[in-house]
Amino acid sequence: MPQVGQGILKGMGVTLQHLFGQKITRQYPEYKRELPERSRGMLTVDMDRCIACLQCMRICPDHCISIESTKRDADGSGKPKPFAVGFVIDDSRCMYCSLCVEVCPVNCIYHTEEFEAQAYNRLELARQFGELPVDPTVDPKPAVKKKKKPTGKKAPKTVEKPRTGDEAA
Ligand code: SF4
Ligand code: SF4
Repeated sequence: MPQVGQGILKGMGVTLQHLFGQKITRQYPEYKRELPERSRGMLTVDMDRCIACLQCMRICPDHCISIESTKRDADGSGKPKPFAVGFVIDDSRCMYCSLCVEVCPVNCIYHTEEFEAQAYNRLELARQFGELPVDPTVDPKPAVKKKKKPTGKKAPKTVEKPRTGDEAA
């Protein structure tokens, strides 16, 4: 028996179901759903707690963190300690891997719930946290030149000429 028009009826049924059913479209950005626990948003850093150890800068695989540090007696103990005067996080390069968060010994760099990073210019995505702005275009970790691997070939031996009697004199 031919099944003429069955596909159309089935399709129309789905359309009617959605026409009178409960609407599930969320009106973003007016409505924002709650983020899952442990979701990773844009990074922030608490500069009062940062000890300028530079570990976050060193571990970042995308080179997004640049820190300008000096020595300063910030706590008045009479002993100058490393102090981060400039701290920039370039969100245009960050991949939210969280390595910088894990490595920080004082837990002062962490993810927020903010994830809407947008700008007309990618340099606007570099967020400054310190007293002094740091140039985000300067790579904090320039590529290290790889040492040449030893090829395994030995250098040719130099054959010493026998000394003649005239040379010995
Ligand atoms: S989350 Fe990852 S990519 Fe982003 S700044 Fe930290 S280490 Fe770098
Ligand atoms: S790892 Fe933490 S304490 Fe060290 S420089 Fe980065 S933010 Fe500051």
